[in-house]
Amino acid sequence: MRFRSLGSGSRGNATLVEFNAQALLIDSGFARRTMLQRLTEAGVEHGALKAAFVTHEHSDHAKGIQSLCEHLNIPFYASFGTARRMEWTGHSLWRCLVSDKPVDVASMQVTPVVVPHDAHEPLQFVIQSAEGRRLGILSDLGSLTSHVVNSYRDCHALQVEANHDPVMLANGPYPPSLRARVAGAYGHLSNEQCADFIRRVKWPGLKHVSAGHISEKNNDRNLVAQVLAEAIGCSPQDVPLLSQDEMSDWVALND
Ligand SMILES: [Zn+2]
Ligand SMILES: [Zn+2]
Repeated sequence: MRFRSLGSGSRGNATLVEFNAQALLIDSGFARRTMLQRLTEAGVEHGALKAAFVTHEHSDHAKGIQSLCEHLNIPFYASFGTARRMEWTGHSLWRCLVSDKPVDVASMQVTPVVVPHDAHEPLQFVIQSAEGRRLGILSDLGSLTSHVVNSYRDCHALQVEANHDPVMLANGPYPPSLRARVAGAYGHLSNEQCADFIRRVKWPGLKHVSAGHISEKNNDRNLVAQVLAEAIGCSPQDVPLLSQDEMSDWVALND
């Protein structure tokens, strides 16, 4: 199994996961044309994409889903709460996700995990390949519940949100209401909360951790790397940081 981010941040998120020449998409927060371009640049034939999974209805995650999936004629999976907000409940390509109930697609098993975020039924995902490799994708949550921590144990790779630095957020350009939302229990993870999460799920099999959904206004990439390096146990320059406008490299989970 291998994966790569097609972009991550408050202006759009998408992650590609591939196993045995078949691929899944987690979120599509970019316009259809951008998504099709990035899939091609990523070297994934459009016919290899078998399904898309949607974390929640916020436009940086859900914007391009319907149009892309209709174009490719592939199912998109989302919770009932997300589907209702997006007016997908009558759509023939929509498949309903239920928290903790795994879905098998393209020789991968996707387990949805409910998270605390200010959306209608937000989920995040743990993806396991038929050969037992586990990838955890976690963003858009304001706090760590024991259910989240337990669900992301035994992952070989993680892509996790390091959204903001609390001091930069407090002194940043956001109006007070938005600041409170981001920092709240249903907002986004700070760098320190991200580090705390990594410490709690770390085990010898965890080989890769990348940080995503990094705020361009309320965070500093050097700071993210410093805070996470300590938790991961590597040097700051070796912490992979995802970016909004560029795809990451493929990360393989084979060793
Ligand atoms: Zn988001
Ligand atoms: Zn969100």
